[in-house]
Amino acid sequence: MAEHALAAPAVAATLGVDPQTGLTEAEARLRLSRHGPNALPEPPVRLLWRLFLRQFQNPLIYLLFVAAAIAALLHKAGDALVILAVVTLNSAIGALQEGRAERAMRSLRRLDALRVRVRRGGTEATIPARELVPGDVLLLGAGDAIGADARLCESNALEIEEAALTGESLPASKDPAALPDDTMVADRRNMVYGGTHVTAGRGVAIVVATGSRSEFGRIAALAEQSFEPPTPLEKRIARLGRTLLWAAMALFVAVIAAGWLRGLPWVDVLMVAISQIVSVVPEGLPVAMTVALAVGMQRMAARGAIVRRLAAVETLGSTTVICTDKTGTLTRNEMTAVALVLPDGRELTVSGVGYAPHGQVLDATGAALTATDPALRDLLTCAVLCNDATLLAPAHEGAPWQLLGDPTEGALLVLAAKAGLEVAALRALSPRVAEVPFDATAQAMLTVHQTARGYLVAIKGAAEVVAALDTAAGGVLGSHAEALSARALRVLAFALAEVEALPQPLTLAALRGRVRSVGLVGQIDPPRDEVAAVVAECAAAGIRTVMITGDHRGTGLAIARQVGIARPADRALDGRELEALTPAQLDAHLATAAVFARVQPAHKLRLIEAFQWQGAVVAMTGDGVNDAPALVRADVGVAMGRAGTEVAKEAADIVITDDRLGTVVSAVREGRVVYGNLQKVLLMLLATGLAEVLVLLAALLGGMPLPFAAVQILWNNVVTEGTTTVNLVLDEAEGDEMRRPPVAPHADLLSRELLARVVLLGLTIATITFGYFAWQLDAGVPFAKAQTATFTLLAVCEWFNVLNCRSTTRSGLSLSVLRNRWLIGGLVVSNLLQVAVVFSPFGNAHFYTVPLDWGDALTIGVLGSGVLWVEELRKMVVRRRARAAA
Ligand code: ATP
Repeated sequence: MAEHALAAPAVAATLGVDPQTGLTEAEARLRLSRHGPNALPEPPVRLLWRLFLRQFQNPLIYLLFVAAAIAALLHKAGDALVILAVVTLNSAIGALQEGRAERAMRSLRRLDALRVRVRRGGTEATIPARELVPGDVLLLGAGDAIGADARLCESNALEIEEAALTGESLPASKDPAALPDDTMVADRRNMVYGGTHVTAGRGVAIVVATGSRSEFGRIAALAEQSFEPPTPLEKRIARLGRTLLWAAMALFVAVIAAGWLRGLPWVDVLMVAISQIVSVVPEGLPVAMTVALAVGMQRMAARGAIVRRLAAVETLGSTTVICTDKTGTLTRNEMTAVALVLPDGRELTVSGVGYAPHGQVLDATGAALTATDPALRDLLTCAVLCNDATLLAPAHEGAPWQLLGDPTEGALLVLAAKAGLEVAALRALSPRVAEVPFDATAQAMLTVHQTARGYLVAIKGAAEVVAALDTAAGGVLGSHAEALSARALRVLAFALAEVEALPQPLTLAALRGRVRSVGLVGQIDPPRDEVAAVVAECAAAGIRTVMITGDHRGTGLAIARQVGIARPADRALDGRELEALTPAQLDAHLATAAVFARVQPAHKLRLIEAFQWQGAVVAMTGDGVNDAPALVRADVGVAMGRAGTEVAKEAADIVITDDRLGTVVSAVREGRVVYGNLQKVLLMLLATGLAEVLVLLAALLGGMPLPFAAVQILWNNVVTEGTTTVNLVLDEAEGDEMRRPPVAPHADLLSRELLARVVLLGLTIATITFGYFAWQLDAGVPFAKAQTATFTLLAVCEWFNVLNCRSTTRSGLSLSVLRNRWLIGGLVVSNLLQVAVVFSPFGNAHFYTVPLDWGDALTIGVLGSGVLWVEELRKMVVRRRARAAA
């Protein structure tokens, strides 16, 4: 019989596990080696030779094959071979680069692996889902992703979203009772399946199937491999490529026409025209982009931002609004209770910081109070019972006190200990028999404890929520709560109820009017040190930071002021106000609202859409299970690696491993670096292409012989560019990335400013090379030598131009080349290859070159540096203007 038809204990017995203790580590290891990892088979690594062959699937390469065929037919076997050799070399370079990028991405994919909670050897552990084995005891709570197929043995209000498996978007409620054997997968209420996740409640389940034997594995095996869709940048580059292909075609016709008019041998003209197409189309760009994105991902990972979707690398760079959580991201999430208010109006303070229970509860006169005070005792009893955290005493002398669980709850245990309350004894005396767990929407939790006379219900939550339950006295504490919030304190309210019978079903609303408030606790959670600087950095980079918090508006605004998110005139809006606003009103409020408080997950969606409607590119942080839709809707969904649920991580574009705002912002900076580096490559490729076209047209129209042979142009575009240009994408941040405004999301990669530089640099290179060629011919230098020298001069110009492309404003000489070792390597290789093609008999035989003498080489070197000096001059003018404007 299948697992769902058996009773849970029978399933446990079959799988040889005691659900109370779980498998031992040794047994788990044994089973792992027997069943294999809990993972779907990975798509095979693409071997180098496959990547190599892939490079040939390119219209440009087809064109070169046509050129080779024509050359062969016309008995120019040498040319044909050279073309084939150059194409092969090009594919080899492309394959190596792509292989490197692919390996990098593959290794990064492992970093964001799913983690699950299990019971092993009697204790709870968090392990990678890959290591799950049949028989493992899974612990499930809201926001957990389910790592494998499992049979429930305990559940409490457990709800599972199974859309990925069944297509049903409403969560299914689950319980362990056995079902008839013929129950369909979608109706098996006592089973949970890998690939789905918990939306509410808790449960314990025994893993029955892992890896490709799970339901999800079976479906995945049937379905096609899914590929990532092209990113916006990939689309932009494809569009640019098409435009340039048309330009190249037009040029092709023009060159053929000019050659025909001049009466040149048509084979030569055809070959040159084809090589022109190769120079105009930036065929190096797609490979450069693959490498740039991979390098960007790698650098972000090194800073603690794991990219889950490639498109995020570029979107990050155009981010204009960052919506950030408060707790843990802006603040340290190290709570200390510092203020108390009792129902009789007494205001108390607490001394001592951190989790060590050293300190005292003091009244207004400075006298110490203990849990013997009845009102204080009620408040602390509620705070300790309605609480899932555990405080661990130092393991040895000098070690710190440690907290298991939510810091908000931990701070309450510390507070109780400071007042002398015996936490463990109290919990043992009043065992918990039922609960409604905390969730961000309800903003409160409730626990029920057995007492001699019936039940004690303990409630804690946001002040408004608890006040609404206490119809008699709820309002009294309200003004105190406001006052505590304005001091940047996180406020919790507490209430108790003694009942003989429990309401069915057990909900917060069912207790309305039956509870009595027992007081308030205010906790400080200081901002992290670096946050103010990070917020200022964003402001300089044209990025607005906005706080989205579940906390009270007063608390949120006070923290926002401390870190510079809110300027003095800025306001806080809360969820209820947000709901009352029309879209037009919200639109008007966005400019001055720096804090959105008491925000429910659904409000986040509305805010994202409102910002996006204004044209913003929005990065939004999230951690809860209900944040998933907002993380998907945001341009960049950012999940918190520590506090975040697995569901939030699955929905996000990037995961921040240390939960800090600073890490989000450094990812933004890297995103900008990627974009800037691609622009450098584009500048380089287009400037060279333009120069070659201008020189050739000038020669054709001016009635001169052709300055480059077709194979020389090919060499230049494939070998010289291939070895140098791509390395520009490995440049590191220049330092001023975050002092510029963000790039508009739909802006052309080839911006106007960039186009102007393409024209300037292209014209300069053309003038230098063409002028030199004309001068050589004039001076009576033999044609072959003049051509070789001009061909070499073009390469030298490119080497200097690579330095130009490294910055828009900074001197190419001031940026240390040493920081980009690949660039130096590329330049050295390119130099050696150029020497080989000019000085070796092989090069002379196949590339129409003749050896140059060293005097010529020197002249060529000096002349080639001209392009550097022209660009240096332009940069100087730009810098001077910027200084004058400042
Ligand atoms: P952010 O979204 O910026 O991280 P937050 O963590 O303060 O803000 P939530 O955790 O959703 O937001 O908390 C919202 C409110 O719920 C808090 O202001 C507090 O009053 C209440 N609250 C928080 N944690 C608990 C808890 N463990 N038990 C009961 N109430 C809680």
